Amino acid sequence: MSVRVRFAPSPTGPLHIGGVRTALYNYLFAKQLGGTFILRIEDTDQGRFVPGAEQYIIEALSWCGIYFDEGVSIGGPYGPYRQSERKESYKPFAEQLVKDGHAYYAFDTAEELELRRTEEHKISKGMFQYDGKTRLTLRNSLTLSEEEVRTRLEKGEQYVIRIKMPENQEVRLTDLIRGEVVVNTTTLDDKVLFKSDGMPTYHLANVVDDHEMKITHVIRGEEWLPSAPLHVLLYRFLGWENVMPAFAHLPLLLKPDGNGKLSKRDGDRLGFPVFPLRWTDPVTGEVSSGYREAGYLPDAFINFLAFLGWNPGTEQEIFDIEDLIQSFSLERVNKAGAKFDLEKARWFNQHYLKTKDDIILGLLLRKQLDEAGIAWPAIEYVDHAAHLIKERIVLIGDLLPQSLFFFLDPVTFDAETIKKRWKPETAEIIENLRLVFESTDFSHSDELETAFKNYLETKNLGTAAVLSPLRLVVTGMGGGPGMFDIMHHIGKDATLRRMKHYKLDN
Ligand code: GLU
Repeated sequence: MSVRVRFAPSPTGPLHIGGVRTALYNYLFAKQLGGTFILRIEDTDQGRFVPGAEQYIIEALSWCGIYFDEGVSIGGPYGPYRQSERKESYKPFAEQLVKDGHAYYAFDTAEELELRRTEEHKISKGMFQYDGKTRLTLRNSLTLSEEEVRTRLEKGEQYVIRIKMPENQEVRLTDLIRGEVVVNTTTLDDKVLFKSDGMPTYHLANVVDDHEMKITHVIRGEEWLPSAPLHVLLYRFLGWENVMPAFAHLPLLLKPDGNGKLSKRDGDRLGFPVFPLRWTDPVTGEVSSGYREAGYLPDAFINFLAFLGWNPGTEQEIFDIEDLIQSFSLERVNKAGAKFDLEKARWFNQHYLKTKDDIILGLLLRKQLDEAGIAWPAIEYVDHAAHLIKERIVLIGDLLPQSLFFFLDPVTFDAETIKKRWKPETAEIIENLRLVFESTDFSHSDELETAFKNYLETKNLGTAAVLSPLRLVVTGMGGGPGMFDIMHHIGKDATLRRMKHYKLDN
């Protein structure tokens, strides 16, 4: 039987990086086994629907290079893949459950239930639950006459269909990450499965769709583990237990400091994105930052995410998507939550930038130059500038500031270097050195270095005392790529001009 997995986000806002990781693990699992990866949009909770969220999810997955085989926007044999468009298919199952005695109609209003909750709290400090202990004291088809239920339904009165949770039964499931999970139904409540607006709740829709879409493995976040026994019961009551998918619940992503789930607030507080792409809230206009806009490469982001909860069991850390497809296994997904680590994310990005082809980095740099309105001489010139700085950048956005001096004479000069290295005699040294370079061939950086060293030797000067000021006047910076590589690249005219016309009084 071929593997079919799904990523089933609700379009309630931007996709959290924990969601991207869930999608990634599903994708890796499917691709390794030659299976099918499906994108299903779970939009049955109309109250939480956010315009633009679905588009955001699709764009985020595409940026990450996580491609789905079936799903919204591309279709497939089990569509539609948006639950609101499958609306009609859920009701018969809810009604079947009622008929078979596994579910019932409940007519209690929100106010009545709220009142009950308050009373319960007052009397016993207890929590009110709609369950085996309380259901016979409430307004539902178990307590009302058949006649009355029919009249209410015919009148179009508001209702919900609730599962009739069996009493004192053990529900077992084998989770591929957590092992055997056993839950006693006495701890579970009578969850709502269907509402009179014609929409199923997540629980019913999820089970029906996973069954109808022939899903073989449900790989999702740990927050759904408490719902899994309910889902197992639904499979059982609907007669599908023998073809029930396997379950794997992924560990939570934890905040970098302390305990608890990583939230947008942690990102804001500690200065890192928790979303793959920038998101502008359609109602408040609030902007949340994204990894793409922060200057991360998708392959670095994916490599980093894969390691939040999984490890290959070896020392190897660099895995491109193909490596991940080959090496990934659910057995090596940790049970414990994974702590988010920004430094590690930056480390991965730095690594991937360093190993990118010059022409790719050159392309990115040209885009930044164009956006900043800075002219560049030739494509090869930009590519080589990118080559010279690629060891030094952590984020894509570092390309321009780190390479500006290849394109413009510096107008500001690193204050720290001036303070430390600029002595009363330095200006004269720079001028003498300029005269030396005037008669040096710039076509090889080696020759520039030799000329420089000869000069130091004849004047009996130390390298540091001269190289830093030279770098300062030519690039404006206190550090950077090899100085003679820079001079060779910007050429004789620019080098000599900068050595003559610098103005250190920033
Ligand atoms: N719609 C659920 C979510 O937003 C999906 C949970 C599942 O994969 O079953 O996370």
